[in-house]
Amino acid sequence: MFIGHAAVGFASKAIVPRASLGVLLAAPFFLDILWPVFILTGLESARIEPGNTAFTPLAFDSFPWSHSLLMAILWGALFGFIVYVVSRSAAIGGVVALGTVSHWICDAVVHRPDLPLTPGGMIFVGMGLWNSKTATLAVELPLFALGVWLYVRATHPKDALGRWALAALVAFFLLAYAGAAFGPPPPSITAVAWGTLALVVVIPWAVWVDRHREVEAELS
Ligand SMILES: [Zn+2]
Repeated sequence: MFIGHAAVGFASKAIVPRASLGVLLAAPFFLDILWPVFILTGLESARIEPGNTAFTPLAFDSFPWSHSLLMAILWGALFGFIVYVVSRSAAIGGVVALGTVSHWICDAVVHRPDLPLTPGGMIFVGMGLWNSKTATLAVELPLFALGVWLYVRATHPKDALGRWALAALVAFFLLAYAGAAFGPPPPSITAVAWGTLALVVVIPWAVWVDRHREVEAELS
């Protein structure tokens, strides 16, 4: 899943309006920020295999440290705890922890059975929504729209930037998603890893968007 993770981040604003959209988006993408680092360092492995699923040519051979359920829970607990310490808000820390774990749950819907429960474990899960491109888009696009709508409803722009920087961020997500769904297969797994890592630009971008928007009075 890709923009489905973004949906979780945007929607989280309605629960913890004081938290920055930057950290709320970082949480559901956290495992996919670790993954390229682990690929580039050789800790995890993947291949380009067109047709692996209808949606993606990526074959996730081994990613137990970023994408096992146990590690997702541990990463979520760690990230949530750090955010709790910094924000002094158990609610924000809790939402960040759950947002991080939500990545694994959303991935379990779309991946074929390649997600391990534990590192070294023999049980792999995945419901395989990616076997249909149409079904993937039919689930993920409405989710994304719902998430963005919840964010827009919880905040209003302070200035023109608050409106247009958000519109540009949403457009960026949709373009990157269209590239993944309809573009040619990537040249190498190293290119995929660097490309995925480059997507962290959405985090400072979201911080910036959020600073130009105000939380609705009844939520703050
Ligand atoms: Zn993932």
